[in-house]
Amino acid sequence: MKLQDLYKKKNTQHNGIFEWVKPAISFEIFPPDKENQNQALFDEIESLNKFEPAFFSLTCGAAGKNAEKSKAILTKLKEHLNLNVMPHLTCVGSSKSKILESLDFFKNLNIENILALRGDLPENYSQSLDELCYANDLTEFIKKNSNFSIAVAGYPEGHIDCENIHHDIKNLKKKIDAGADVIFTQMFFDNNKFFNYVHLVREEGIDAPIIPGIMPITGILQLQKMTKLARVTLPKALIEQLEKHDNDKDYIKKLGIDFSSYQCQQLIDAEVKGLHFFTLNKSDATAQILDNIL
Ligand code: FAD
Repeated sequence: MKLQDLYKKKNTQHNGIFEWVKPAISFEIFPPDKENQNQALFDEIESLNKFEPAFFSLTCGAAGKNAEKSKAILTKLKEHLNLNVMPHLTCVGSSKSKILESLDFFKNLNIENILALRGDLPENYSQSLDELCYANDLTEFIKKNSNFSIAVAGYPEGHIDCENIHHDIKNLKKKIDAGADVIFTQMFFDNNKFFNYVHLVREEGIDAPIIPGIMPITGILQLQKMTKLARVTLPKALIEQLEKHDNDKDYIKKLGIDFSSYQCQQLIDAEVKGLHFFTLNKSDATAQILDNIL
């Protein structure tokens, strides 16, 4: 199903009876480093599939890195496991002809949706080499050359390269004007940041669905590294709890699952149309969160 149809349904009320539309669940996975790790990924996917996700999204390396690995995983998911998949596609360091090749490959697999991204800039990057510099250029190019439904990324705390969130949202509008249908957000751990972002995005005249990206918390070190890289803030009380129980893995795991479950429940109560989980190729924490909230 195309993204624009997937997130169309709304909660309704008929004759005083409230009909709740379950948010569409999706799971982000990445191609494992080594081919012999693929089976472990497929096992995790099987565990997550019981939640009847709308789709799995598959990340891609910047500048076409790991493209062959991604293709093999996409083929397995689509042709052998019959799952809906949304590949990510980046434009930095790529060329129009390489992007057209990828679009052809996706089309031949009957893929309907793509997450269009600029990608992180490689070291010593020179923009003048790129034919498509930003995600809005890529979105426009995909729109012109195919019928895919297109998703783009949004940043509730602003993108790391952008001096302020208002400029970043103006750049988000360029992606929507270029033809994007849906926005998937960066991880965040304070729902107020998300709610405030939605408010600002709507003020900019963007009415596309905004799907929150959820990072289940499973450990402190990895979390601190990822949030620092992406300039995402962690609530002070959460850091204190994580640091206090740093040596107690079971406690951290339970705390993480409780925290993320509460976060998701609050988002569902605010009637988000979907929840997009960054699974890091592990089903356990995500599955426990979903067991808690659905
Ligand atoms: P853009 O929307 O192009 O924005 C990049 C920066 O440039 C922002 O600061 C923006 O404000 C500014 N900008 C945008 N347009 C313009 C313009 N026209 N003129 C001037 N400035 C502009 N990375 C990967 O490599 N592979 C993945 O699979 C991947 N998946 C992701 C999934 C999600 C849900 C998210 C949130 C991010 C993902 N990323 C991935 C990371 C992403 O590639 C980086 O955050 C990257 O630095 C920005 O990509 P973008 O598409 O948001 O860029």
